[in-house]
Amino acid sequence: MSALYRKYRPQKFSDLLGQSDLVTVMINTTKLDRFAHAYIFYGTRGTGKTSVARLVAKTANCTDLEYKKKHGEACDACDACMKINQGVTLDIFEIDGASNRGIDEIRELKEKIRVSPAFLRYKIFIIDEAHMLTTPAWNALLKVFEEPPAHAIFILATTEFEKIPKTILSRAQRYFFKPQGIKEISEKLLTITKEEKINADKDALELIATFADGSFRDAESLLDQLRSLAPTLTKDVIEEALGRLGPASIRELALAICKNDLKNSLALVKKYARDGVNFPDLIRELIELLRLALTLHLAPALESDLIVDFGETESAIIKELATLCLPEKISPLLKGLIAAYEESGTTPFPQLSLELALIENIK
Ligand SMILES: [Zn+2]
Repeated sequence: MSALYRKYRPQKFSDLLGQSDLVTVMINTTKLDRFAHAYIFYGTRGTGKTSVARLVAKTANCTDLEYKKKHGEACDACDACMKINQGVTLDIFEIDGASNRGIDEIRELKEKIRVSPAFLRYKIFIIDEAHMLTTPAWNALLKVFEEPPAHAIFILATTEFEKIPKTILSRAQRYFFKPQGIKEISEKLLTITKEEKINADKDALELIATFADGSFRDAESLLDQLRSLAPTLTKDVIEEALGRLGPASIRELALAICKNDLKNSLALVKKYARDGVNFPDLIRELIELLRLALTLHLAPALESDLIVDFGETESAIIKELATLCLPEKISPLLKGLIAAYEESGTTPFPQLSLELALIENIK
């Protein structure tokens, strides 16, 4: 886990970005001091499931009820909060579903659940990667879930919701953690770069956010890895470091195509080939981008829905593409690109498949 990720972990519910519904629910739960005995947090990796589980552990155990009623958050000042923040309590268990599968581990877990907490109000069991649990483990948990002891709270976190048994699901409160948009991730990265005095272009941060694929954690580790590469992180530095063609290059090619500039389009393809691009990936991303531009051209009213996840620079270019993207020209090109994509996985000349699609359709 990267240092930046640890440092910028949310300390209270309202620190959570991009999960506003969940934040509201948790704050209200805290105000009423009415925590459930079992939660299931599900969603893609790096969206904050474990962070929220830890916040629930702290908030449920915070003893300053007045503060909780008023703010909907843990007070961070009572004995319980302090101990939890220092990580010195014996009543919070973080269990890795993947490595606690045996009969002995389950027996030990059952024993821990049975015994009352040593110091805190609740014993908290956070089970990460819960989908990895074995059938005996689920059976043991189910027995507990049927009659949960008043002193225990279970939080199961998983990326594979469909693998959680229905009998467990029906006895727990379920919350979905949304993957994060490029905009939210790059905004958080911007805050971090300011705090940490890292010089980085806005474009570079957007690019890191794109590579992170909806995960704050991945974005923060990438930034951590890349921060010392150059005095200033730029789009070019990032692309080169990650050895993959970034979305900026795909947009450059799309723009040349939409401007009917065959010569420049072919030159770019040649350049990407020299950089060692994976052609099936390049063609697929190009198709996705042109399709987005075409949809936006035909239905401008959808703008806010379609490009809500993109950063500022990206949005501006996509809008420009949409203006240039004439349906009568782009639809045959898209058909050609789809054929080229299908071919590109099997032919020894994937670059040629793309070039031919361009030559035949850019006129
Ligand atoms: Zn407290």
